[in-house]
Amino acid sequence: MNPPVPLALQKSFGFGDRLGLATPGHMAAVRRFPDFAPIFAQQSIREMTRTQRTPQEVMSAACQSVDALGFTGKWGADGDHLKTPEDVQNVAAAGFCFYTIDPSAFVNNGADAMEEAALRSEVGVLETEGLFSGFDWKDYYLNRVFSLGSRIPPVRFDEESLFRAAVKYSRATAHAERMGQAIAKASGGRGEVEVSVDETDSPTSPLEHLFFALELQRRGVPGLVSLAPRFVGDFEKGIDYRGDLARFEQELKVHVAISKFAGPYKISIHSGSDKFSLYPVIGRVCGSLLHVKTAGTSYLEALRTVARTAPGLFSEIAAYCRGRFDTDRASYHISTTQAQVESLPVFQGAGQEAVYLDEVAGRQLLHVTFGSVLTHGREASGRTFKEGILEVLHRHADLHAELLETHFVRHLSQLNAG
Ligand SMILES: [Zn+2]
Repeated sequence: MNPPVPLALQKSFGFGDRLGLATPGHMAAVRRFPDFAPIFAQQSIREMTRTQRTPQEVMSAACQSVDALGFTGKWGADGDHLKTPEDVQNVAAAGFCFYTIDPSAFVNNGADAMEEAALRSEVGVLETEGLFSGFDWKDYYLNRVFSLGSRIPPVRFDEESLFRAAVKYSRATAHAERMGQAIAKASGGRGEVEVSVDETDSPTSPLEHLFFALELQRRGVPGLVSLAPRFVGDFEKGIDYRGDLARFEQELKVHVAISKFAGPYKISIHSGSDKFSLYPVIGRVCGSLLHVKTAGTSYLEALRTVARTAPGLFSEIAAYCRGRFDTDRASYHISTTQAQVESLPVFQGAGQEAVYLDEVAGRQLLHVTFGSVLTHGREASGRTFKEGILEVLHRHADLHAELLETHFVRHLSQLNAG
């Protein structure tokens, strides 16, 4: 028995496994990159809801593979995107030890565009609510130059940038504090914490990151090892980065300097799969203070296993997904349109594998529909898609593991290529 443990500041990589059969492939890849500590059990509350799995099932699947394959290294377990103290208790009871706090419901996305008068009045509301009680926050932030190391010019807040940061993130830091207390209690003080604001409408500027991190520090959120800003450009699910690489690198350097100044903690890259054009940059700039999170990309490798060994089943799944796309895409940040999905060719076999599993529209179609496929979809025979997929993955476990290994060796080697 080799249970999951806190990984502290070790460079780490999160593998989400929605079907409970991917850990052998993940392990084969990460064994070749011992500088990365793996997180084999990682599932957000949203994913568990959509796949109708419990935290205990997610944990058991990972533990069984770790035991069966004799993995003796350290590994972690991430209860991802936890929004309430109840979420914390649920994952803690199953043995998770890395807790990702998602305070995005408390982020005020309107702050970026507020007029000065509205901004001032909103700051007054925050003060009245007691968000800065006993703390001369304007003096602390405004009358100070923040030196972030020799390679980054020092930064400072002016009143406008401070007020926007405060309006946008103050309530979120207060919620993170409440969640941090719930985690400390539920884990007996052993839990490690990530705070993620990646799923907000606008990017986290370096100054906003600095404010956010110093507020977490002031509030004493215990066990903080990692923070996930929302970066510039588009981190869409399952595909490469879209955006200005040079600007991304420039801002990432400041984010990393802030994480050392206000931490140290790791910079966490969410929706981190398939960002091949960014990996050398991310690896070089973050060094060892890095966590990368992936999830749906492993599910797509499971579907690739189905496409190769049970093309009839894959064809039925693909047709079903096309009917679900318009509904299921709603909660995702993706650019693929309904028209693009409708113009995909019917899957008939190997000739269409790339269209569905390597190109953008096909990948995003399959990505956003996973919950429907795994809980509602049925073959013409009446068997559920989930049963069909699991049967294929058991029967072709070697191919499934090999596809996952190849896929993640590509991720990890590119992260180390900078
Ligand atoms: Zn996320």
